[in-house]
Amino acid sequence: MRETLVLNASFEPLSTVTSRRAVVLVMQEKAVVEHAHPGLRIRAASVEMPVPQVIRLSRYVRVPFRRWAPWSRRGVLVRDQHRCAYCGRRATTVDHVVPRSHGGGDTWLNTVASCAEDNHRKADRTPEQAGMRLLRRPFEPTPAEAMLSALGVSVREELPGWASPAA
Ligand SMILES: [Zn+2]
Repeated sequence: MRETLVLNASFEPLSTVTSRRAVVLVMQEKAVVEHAHPGLRIRAASVEMPVPQVIRLSRYVRVPFRRWAPWSRRGVLVRDQHRCAYCGRRATTVDHVVPRSHGGGDTWLNTVASCAEDNHRKADRTPEQAGMRLLRRPFEPTPAEAMLSALGVSVREELPGWASPAA
């Protein structure tokens, strides 16, 4: 799979994504093509275009983590796109899956975005103890995932089937 360099709207390099992902970002008008492969083409739905080598985001995105990132509350909310890990509604707080009182740490894998209600309901218990289920597993965001999250693009979602390399 080819990689495409992603620049911020300010031309600052942010990350790389797969060329397939890059085409989807262009189709969604979240990015424009800056440079494309002269010879290689990729087909997406009814559109065929040269494989993008460099794309630039249409609007400036503040990316909270550029490299493998130190943990932060804000980072957890951005990673989870402000969606509660227990009910999917808007999240404004960060929940420790294993509570700090049980030895759980401030780490990417132990924290999730949570709505205030679920955070309060879960209180000082593990999800098992509280009888609550995580809708998704917390993960440590890669730089590309951090950028896509900041863009409002779902990170772990499958790409649409219509984005495929042209024959
Ligand atoms: Zn909730």
